[in-house]
Amino acid sequence: MWQALAFLALAGGVWLHFWWRKRWREASREKAQREEEIASLREEQRKTAVQSEAQQQALFNSIAEGVLVLDIEGRIQLANQALKRLMRVSHEIRGQSVLEAFRLHQLTEVIRRISEDGPVLGFELELPGTGRRYLQVNAAPILDAERKQQGSVLVLHDLTRLKQLESTRKEFVANVSHELRTPLSLIKGYVETLIDGAKDDPVVAGRFLQTILKHTDRLTFLIEDLLTISQLESGQGALNIQPVELQPITERVLEDFQSRAGEKRTTIKNAIPLGLAVRADSDRLQQVLFNLVDNAIKYGHAGRQITVSARVLDNEKAEICVQDDGPGIPADALGRVFERFYRVERGRSRELGGTGLGLSIVKHIVQCHGGEVWAQSELGQGSSFYFTLALASS
Ligand code: ADP
Repeated sequence: MWQALAFLALAGGVWLHFWWRKRWREASREKAQREEEIASLREEQRKTAVQSEAQQQALFNSIAEGVLVLDIEGRIQLANQALKRLMRVSHEIRGQSVLEAFRLHQLTEVIRRISEDGPVLGFELELPGTGRRYLQVNAAPILDAERKQQGSVLVLHDLTRLKQLESTRKEFVANVSHELRTPLSLIKGYVETLIDGAKDDPVVAGRFLQTILKHTDRLTFLIEDLLTISQLESGQGALNIQPVELQPITERVLEDFQSRAGEKRTTIKNAIPLGLAVRADSDRLQQVLFNLVDNAIKYGHAGRQITVSARVLDNEKAEICVQDDGPGIPADALGRVFERFYRVERGRSRELGGTGLGLSIVKHIVQCHGGEVWAQSELGQGSSFYFTLALASS
């Protein structure tokens, strides 16, 4: 009996031992499995965090505007690439204050205003350094659920191009008004003098009427040029690009100048090789040639020669040149003659009936064709105006 009990106890102990070992093993396996699951969950969380940060960064970097996120102390938490480009910084600026990073007191002022008054909209600032650059800043506080400020976000927009366009527009309107007013007030003055008695002297009256006619012509040319510019800018009358033979089209333009050239005893030579054709709108191309030859006659010396020539460049474009042996253009003015209303000698151009728009029209038309235009000149040595157009065969 005693022995049987001892055996049972032993057997129970052995069973318990194995049962316990089995449970322990299972528990360890479960624990390892749970740990593995937790580790994989953590890894997934880490990947999601990295991915979401990368997405956030990509999103910020894809914004064209500069974005700056600051913490409550005014330290930079995030700056996108557009902001770094705008501010011309290439190093890491995270953790720095706005003043340390950009040395701009006006931005510090914006941040102070956000904390005190809330969002700041349309704040304009001029950046120091070479070349005028303007920024517009829109800024707002970052608030938590209790509407307590946690930081600020600033969005910076580059206004430079807009400001330049605005100033070009203002300058253009001022120039147009001036150019229209000058002949108008001259015409008015002559008409008043005629009314006051000059009409009774046929010689004086004839001279005054000639002058009035000259100024009305000038007004007409100016208005025609302004209309051309507006048509070109608005893309109206899209170009009708076709193969155009250069030699005959130049000949047609030169025929219109024969009598004017004759008055100045100027000879015009068409040196363009026969058979050379470009891809162009024939009316616009005639206008380019007309304006360049008109200038060459207008500003060239009497009794000299003007040559229109062309050559093939790189087997793909034609370079056309209108060359005169006139007074030439000073080096500092050479780059500016294509600007609207720019004249080397203002008085002389007006006296010769110039509108100051001829070369800007030339430039516009050539660029619409995808070509380039430039001038070469030396004072006293004449001027050469070049432009390129694609070859019809390229
Ligand atoms: P404009 O109507 O005054 O001729 P353009 O735009 O055609 O205006 O030309 C701008 C200026 O460039 C002219 O006022 C003139 O001073 C200068 N210019 C143009 N072509 C010539 C040339 N062939 N020789 C000398 N100066 C020229």
